[in-house]
Amino acid sequence: MSQESPISEPIVYHGKKFVVLSDWDGTITTEDSNDYVTDNFGMGREERMALNGLVRDKKENFRDAFRMMIKSINENGKEGGKVTHTFDFCRDAVASGIKVDDTFKGFYEFCEGNDIPVVIVSSGMEPIIRAVLSKHLASLGGIQIVSNQVKTFDDGSWDIQYRHPESGFGHDKSKAIAPYRAMQPAPIVFFFGDGVSDLSAAQGATCLFVKYKPNGENFLMEYCQQNKIKHRLFESFKEAQDLMKLIIFAETEAEQHNIIAREWPEVA
Ligand SMILES: [Mg+2]
Repeated sequence: MSQESPISEPIVYHGKKFVVLSDWDGTITTEDSNDYVTDNFGMGREERMALNGLVRDKKENFRDAFRMMIKSINENGKEGGKVTHTFDFCRDAVASGIKVDDTFKGFYEFCEGNDIPVVIVSSGMEPIIRAVLSKHLASLGGIQIVSNQVKTFDDGSWDIQYRHPESGFGHDKSKAIAPYRAMQPAPIVFFFGDGVSDLSAAQGATCLFVKYKPNGENFLMEYCQQNKIKHRLFESFKEAQDLMKLIIFAETEAEQHNIIAREWPEVA
């Protein structure tokens, strides 16, 4: 027997001038929760970093790599053939082990106050994200999350349930951006990300913010450099908010475009 949560279609916001779509893990949280459980309970950091490198270099896809990581979490730590790293165990470990960017709450409120929808677009699993939100950002409980789900089995094992199982991304984040790009007039889409799960979305955003990682895990930055995708590094949402203000409160569209061209230059 297995239990699958339903995967619902995203709500698309119409008639907006600006929309924010943001990755969750490593972008809103200070550490990637999937990396956290893989490093602590699964294959470990070294093997996980090597797999991420293969995804960045397009030698492996995210969907299959992530599934290998989850399998390693299930397999590792088995006692008498019984899974000890159950989904509930991992969810609770993440909720207590992971921290969020403490400027995100203010950023969210700024967006809300300026009629800018904020959507979390994640390659993680919704119940884990909800658990971290309720522990650290309880007032943001109403935020829309477009992500994968989870499948649990009677023997305690679990697996990810992908939103787009046919895609090598498992969750193809570019599909969350596409409806906005197709609108007439199209809103300016600010996308925030950091890692290999954001590669599919990187090209679709009007303004791509890439979170800079002092720990050297800058997979999205490296990918943007390799593929000459315009991006801008940021370290906190406060910093991004200050830059967004210039665009949002620009007096003319021409001025808006000039600011974007200046702040998101071509990659040399
Ligand atoms: Mg991430």
